[in-house]
Amino acid sequence: MKTLVMVGAGHSNLIAINALVGNLQADIRIVLVSDVLKAPYSGMLPGFMAGYYEEDQIVFDLKKISESCGISFIHAEVKYIHTASSKITLSTGEVIGYDCLSVNTGIHPHKIKCDHQGEEHLIYVKPLSRLIPKWTHFLKEKSNLQIAVIGAGSAGCEIAAAISIRTGCKITLFTKNQEILPELPESARKKARTQLRKLDIQVQTQTEVVSYLLGNIICDKGHTFSANYVFVTTGAVPNPIPGNLKCDPKGFLITNEKLLVEGADNIFATGDCISFNNHPLPKAGVYAVRQGKVLAINIQAYFSRLPMVSYKPQKKFLKILLIGNKLALATRGHLSIMNRLAWILKVYLDKKFMKRYQR
Ligand SMILES: Cc1cc2nc3c(=O)[nH]c(=O)nc-3n(C[C@H](O)[C@H](O)[C@H](O)COP(=O)(O)OP(=O)(O)OC[C@H]3O[C@@H](n4cnc5c(N)ncnc54)[C@H](O)[C@@H]3O)c2cc1C
Repeated sequence: MKTLVMVGAGHSNLIAINALVGNLQADIRIVLVSDVLKAPYSGMLPGFMAGYYEEDQIVFDLKKISESCGISFIHAEVKYIHTASSKITLSTGEVIGYDCLSVNTGIHPHKIKCDHQGEEHLIYVKPLSRLIPKWTHFLKEKSNLQIAVIGAGSAGCEIAAAISIRTGCKITLFTKNQEILPELPESARKKARTQLRKLDIQVQTQTEVVSYLLGNIICDKGHTFSANYVFVTTGAVPNPIPGNLKCDPKGFLITNEKLLVEGADNIFATGDCISFNNHPLPKAGVYAVRQGKVLAINIQAYFSRLPMVSYKPQKKFLKILLIGNKLALATRGHLSIMNRLAWILKVYLDKKFMKRYQR
């Protein structure tokens, strides 16, 4: 019996499992190892925070999925990858062997300096599994609070809008950049700015937050802003698994175009935790989703000793962000619209995705 171990229930591994079940040779077993029992789907998280979805609608129940796929599930964190002996050590102390390994463990944000009192009020958006209970707790004390959201990329703008829609709290969005949503064209940014203004969300650009002390945000130029709660969406630090896998200076696993980790012919890596061909891709689920399809093909190819295919990062893709009360900003290349239709499309696509992989 051969063993394929999937580490982390990120988008790519879930998609690959779905494609591989029933299509691998009978003597190959699949083992999914995840440090969480339920993996939230980030595309629907802002909608959950805004109150449009229940928790069950936005999470993948990994035990249930594994049972329905007929694969093994281990609830544990992978602590070490021993490449020489093709084994992994789990947080439970268990050691399991693999013939082929697929690492899809995502990222976490940069930590912000904080005092003891502030810790409870500093909420990191990733890992999403930890955000959900913190958000539920936050909702109990939500009235008349001053909220800071750090980072004005897609996640920051969506989170700020969702908090505003759900709670009506006063929100300030901080970014060290000159602009919000720097990855989007100016026409889209303009629509987003107008919408954030309608939600009464203040935007503080060119302001880097360095610490959170005694209910105050401290910024790089010495300014302070009061904030009862801080939501952090910035920075991408890979979730590291010690071992001797090839990483770039920031710790992202270096893969080739076949999604194999450099120097390892039986270890694939995908999603936010990789440096693809030694060039980091933007941290977006759409890349992980496309990689999942290539991953499934290449895992099959690995076991059947067939040629593998190359992953080509998509240059343009549809991005839909929830930035208003059931209003979304949809962009593709230089085109953008901001309206309810975009939100309806997002709901449709997200629910379709969940239905396909929730099983
Ligand atoms: C609020 C928000 C909204 C977003 N919206 C969008 C969107 O609309 N469209 C889009 O394209 N992108 C979006 N993104 C980005 C998207 O979430 C990520 O790019 C995507 O989740 C990357 O997926 P992944 O496959 O790398 O793995 P992840 O989804 O990050 O999952 C990794 C999994 O591995 C587990 N894990 C980590 N370490 C270990 C270990 N040692 N052992 C076992 N398990 C481990 C983690 O717990 C986690 O479950 C959003 C992000 C945020 C924060």
